[in-house]
Amino acid sequence: MLIVKKFGGTSVGNTERIFNVAKRCIEDYQKGNQVVVVLSAMGKQTDVLLDMAKEVNPKASKRELDMLLTTGEQTSVALMAMALDSLGVPAVSLNAFQVAMHTTTDYGNARLKRIDTQRIHFELDNRRIVVVTGFQGINKYDDYTTLGRGGSDTTAVALAAALHADACEIYTDVDGVFTADPRIVPSARKLSEITYDEMLELASLGAGVLHNRSVEMAKKHGVQLVVRSSLNTSEGTVVKEESKMEKMLVSGVATDKNVAQFAVEGLENKPGVAFKLFQHLANHQVNVDMIIQSVEHNGTQDICFTVTEDMAEVALETLERHRNTSLRCEKITITRDVAKVSVVGAGMMSNPGVAAKMFEALYDAGINIRQISTSEIRVTVLIDEKYTEDAAQAVHEAFSLEK
Ligand code: ADP
Ligand code: ASP
Ligand code: MG
Repeated sequence: MLIVKKFGGTSVGNTERIFNVAKRCIEDYQKGNQVVVVLSAMGKQTDVLLDMAKEVNPKASKRELDMLLTTGEQTSVALMAMALDSLGVPAVSLNAFQVAMHTTTDYGNARLKRIDTQRIHFELDNRRIVVVTGFQGINKYDDYTTLGRGGSDTTAVALAAALHADACEIYTDVDGVFTADPRIVPSARKLSEITYDEMLELASLGAGVLHNRSVEMAKKHGVQLVVRSSLNTSEGTVVKEESKMEKMLVSGVATDKNVAQFAVEGLENKPGVAFKLFQHLANHQVNVDMIIQSVEHNGTQDICFTVTEDMAEVALETLERHRNTSLRCEKITITRDVAKVSVVGAGMMSNPGVAAKMFEALYDAGINIRQISTSEIRVTVLIDEKYTEDAAQAVHEAFSLEK
């Protein structure tokens, strides 16, 4: 069997943990398997590097930031190969260049395009454990790129797909995918399995346990994932196409505080207004979510939408620039202390009443809803950020998701 095993930052947070991971990899290796290990930077190293960069130059270029961040993953793979070697198992560490993991040019948020597998196969055929840097790639200018925060999961899934691996295991600091972030809702329950579609919604809505692109890629290439703990041997959660369990009405609750809400008021009520507004934002790579347009009042209309908080400044500058020309609006307001709370479940497609039940739970908890959006398998509300934890608890309880 060819097994891809990915370990996150906490799992390789110190040298003792590196040895713990090395031993788990050796167990598989000694059973005759080919083992590819994907690692994140140790502990909070990526944040440490970002803080240092900010001190030196708050406006550092994205190219140089990526050059810096890739050193985090490089440190962990080299140490892991040394640990494996010291335990008597031949191993080799490879970075994105040495493997050749080709990405798009977007520094800080690149997408994997193609992975050369020749070098990895060569090393595996020589019975080495291959330890690969997560999170990084190279672009057509031969520069390092990174895949966005949490991107090592995507490296692992992409490698599993490219190598036609028999298993792809994501090891982290919790026992699997839970019905809510166990750090926010302590009564959250571990799911034994979840579908790609549900996991993709949860990951996109803030459940950071998996990078959302990793789930997208797993679905596209049919890579079955197991999410489990690196600290114990409990079974974890299988992420796959179809769940054999009865379609759960709601399988999980997700929260996301990285949100800002915009209200653009007093826009003319005529064709092309929404187009211009969102085209300006798209031109500046601002992703927009949760859009609502009001009914007409006094010949004008309002449009509200959300963006991720880190793009709020760019969005505001862009709108202000066009305010008196193509947009011609009366007022632009931005609210940063908001959060999204979502419920996700494949079962809601055929069961009415999920939204009402969620709203009732929020009403009972005295939490006001600022905005709502839905898809076939989710309901999302925007609320004041200070109520995030209370809202998640209340909704989780209303759907009886507890242990
Ligand atoms: P790693 O460094 O291993 O990639 P992450 O911090 O990226 O770990 O992801 C694991 C964290 O995801 C957990 O510690 C947990 O707080 C958080 N999390 C958020 N939502 C969920 C969920 N639904 N199930 C499990 N963990 C979740
Ligand atoms: N080290 C990177 C981060 O902290 C990538 C990852 O951990 O997946 O975002
Ligand atoms: Mg992660």
